[in-house]
Amino acid sequence: MSASDPFAGLTIDVSRRALATQFKARGIETPELDARLLIGAALDLDHTALAAQAARLITSEESKAIAGFAQRRMAHEPVARILGRKEFWGLDFELSAATLVPRPDTETVIEAALEVFRNDLRSAALRIADIGTGSGAILLALLSEFPEATGVGTDISAEALATAELNARRFDLAGRASFVQCDYAAALSGPFDLIVSNPPYIPSSHIATLDRDVRDHDPVLALDGGTDGLDAYRAIIPQAAALLGLGGILIVETGHDQSTPVSDLMRSAKLTLPRPPVADLGGIHRAVMGRKAAF
Ligand code: GLN
Repeated sequence: MSASDPFAGLTIDVSRRALATQFKARGIETPELDARLLIGAALDLDHTALAAQAARLITSEESKAIAGFAQRRMAHEPVARILGRKEFWGLDFELSAATLVPRPDTETVIEAALEVFRNDLRSAALRIADIGTGSGAILLALLSEFPEATGVGTDISAEALATAELNARRFDLAGRASFVQCDYAAALSGPFDLIVSNPPYIPSSHIATLDRDVRDHDPVLALDGGTDGLDAYRAIIPQAAALLGLGGILIVETGHDQSTPVSDLMRSAKLTLPRPPVADLGGIHRAVMGRKAAF
């Protein structure tokens, strides 16, 4: 075992355990999972193949690939960044430097939308807009659930939009998804049945205190919500209220203490609140819903 080839000649299983031990010592939260994902990616083996080949020996070339990934993870680069991919709502999203890593918390927005548009509405020709679409996670997850819907995603970043377009093609949704580069909803014309957004909502002064996996690797444009974290909502909510058709729904993701001020912004924009904020699995109010009343 040499410094550049630390895993050569060890079995896959032993390497996986050794790497998990190193990650654990570094304070990485999910050491076993991360070691398995990174070794799987370095060897191009899925979970089942990795288990089936647990006793096979690692080659020198494979060892170098694992060591390269391991070094990046030890420097707190998230696994999703190293792999350039992240699963969201059962879809395998490609990422780029301009996109957030999609979070499980954001699935709360999809669940809230499914709750409103159910039964026959689910097969309606809904028009959807996703403001600040990033990798396209929310928009494409919704299009995968609503088979007759069409949607448009906006982003200020051309690089993010290129990633979202790539994902739309990967999931065979490109025929129903379009993308436009603009500030929030500036280039959109309505009416929409559903508008969604996971805007930047971290107060500027909190960015430096975020977990370094987030702070050092997620794009600050997708995080920084200004002095109180609410700048994007102040822009998006009135724009969305104007773009919704009568009865249309706006769902925005919110940070942990933001559901009350965001609800107030919805009311100020003359939206009604058809249900209380929706909590994520951690119990945080993660999505706020407004409705453009039909009168
Ligand atoms: N949920 C992200 C985080 O906690 C923030 C994403 C955002 O600002 N929209 O890091």
